[in-house]
Amino acid sequence: MKNAIADENMLWPYANIIYKTEDSVGCPESPQCEILMKAMEHYHQKSCVRFKEWTGERDYVKIFFNPDSGACWSPVGRTGEGEQLLSLGQRCWYLGIVVHELGHAVGFWHEMNRPDRDAWIHIFWRNILPGFESAFAMHDAASVNTLGERFDYRSIMMYDEYAFSKDGTSPTIQPTQPGVTIGPIWRKPGLSASDVRRVHKLYNCQGNQPKPGFPVDVVCDFDEHTCGFKNGGSAVWAWHNSTRSDGFVYSTCEKAGSTPGYFLSVNFHASPEASRGCVRFWHLLRSEEDLVLQLSQAHLDRVTQLSYDPDAAKDLWESQVSTGQWTHVEVPIDISRPFKLVFMSVFSETCQHGTIALDDVEVLYRPCSGASGPMAPPPSPPEAPPTTTTTSATTTTGTAATPTPPPPLPPLGPRPAIMQPKPPRAPAPGEEDEPPQLPTHPHNHL
Ligand SMILES: [Zn+2]
Repeated sequence: MKNAIADENMLWPYANIIYKTEDSVGCPESPQCEILMKAMEHYHQKSCVRFKEWTGERDYVKIFFNPDSGACWSPVGRTGEGEQLLSLGQRCWYLGIVVHELGHAVGFWHEMNRPDRDAWIHIFWRNILPGFESAFAMHDAASVNTLGERFDYRSIMMYDEYAFSKDGTSPTIQPTQPGVTIGPIWRKPGLSASDVRRVHKLYNCQGNQPKPGFPVDVVCDFDEHTCGFKNGGSAVWAWHNSTRSDGFVYSTCEKAGSTPGYFLSVNFHASPEASRGCVRFWHLLRSEEDLVLQLSQAHLDRVTQLSYDPDAAKDLWESQVSTGQWTHVEVPIDISRPFKLVFMSVFSETCQHGTIALDDVEVLYRPCSGASGPMAPPPSPPEAPPTTTTTSATTTTGTAATPTPPPPLPPLGPRPAIMQPKPPRAPAPGEEDEPPQLPTHPHNHL
């Protein structure tokens, strides 16, 4: 491919780019989020690259709307350092520009930095905004894999004639081929034919099918984060953890009253060849009154779909049995289409004490084992929420005596630190910073 990273360690396993959007992007409601999803879908339609929402993976791209800057930038490829930032500033919200920035994350440098670029473009060094000359540096052939593709003016990774111009009107790039106009990235429709071939070569794609092995199973132990699960509507579900090894999520009657609590997963990818998958989880219901924990599955047309129809979600499983004990279940799911999982907790209007808790949610791209009850032996079941009472029947003097008082609630901790936005850092070497050449709104340079 053209002008891609030459180090295979910087490729994403299974061509699967893990991403997280910072709250600043405004997903799922904002127009920015819509553009971002369209750009990701563009890669899904044309290649084996798959963008998957973060559910706890170590390496991921954190996409943020940089409100103080027009800057659009991203590291090239997978840095392997955990979180890597992708900045989309005020001037970046065009499909072409977002596809360009995602192209960096996929593994591409700028077309104009190719080792052979001098045969295709002339650089007017005098017209470059002082301090931005390095954006026009030519990469040496050893650090770049051009994937057997010719220089391409139409590449989404190719800057236009006025990139980093000192005054916006003096050209910095001129095609050596007569009659060629490059034009701004924001006006490009997306990946060029050559870009698509490069992505295919870089990741050994078979058409636009996902790579073998994708998607991978997801396991959420809620010890260090909530795995991308979020409250839909009221913040009824909360996260409990104190030692990073005892986490679970729960809702209580005291907090929720009779308001149903919707706990929404990220959007999961479909399996390319299987239709039967499995969700396994531990759950605990504890109340003197009626209560319900329900699991439903909403199918999506695309994994990048931003909304779903709650009425069309399919109820898969529910429990109303208050045992106060952790219980393991597995529930078959249909993985032939992208989907979202929804756990719903409901307490009765008259409830005074009650807890519904979940732990170790697993989304498996294979059929359930068929065992109806808990696996034996259970995989170290999580501790129940803190309790000071005993429910042992042997110590009870009268079996029909007054009910045991409900145990205290698990403590309501602060939201996990991972949910708090971190201040953006300056781009590191190898990243880009390309605010000057991008217009605040579409206009014609010529
Ligand atoms: Zn760029």
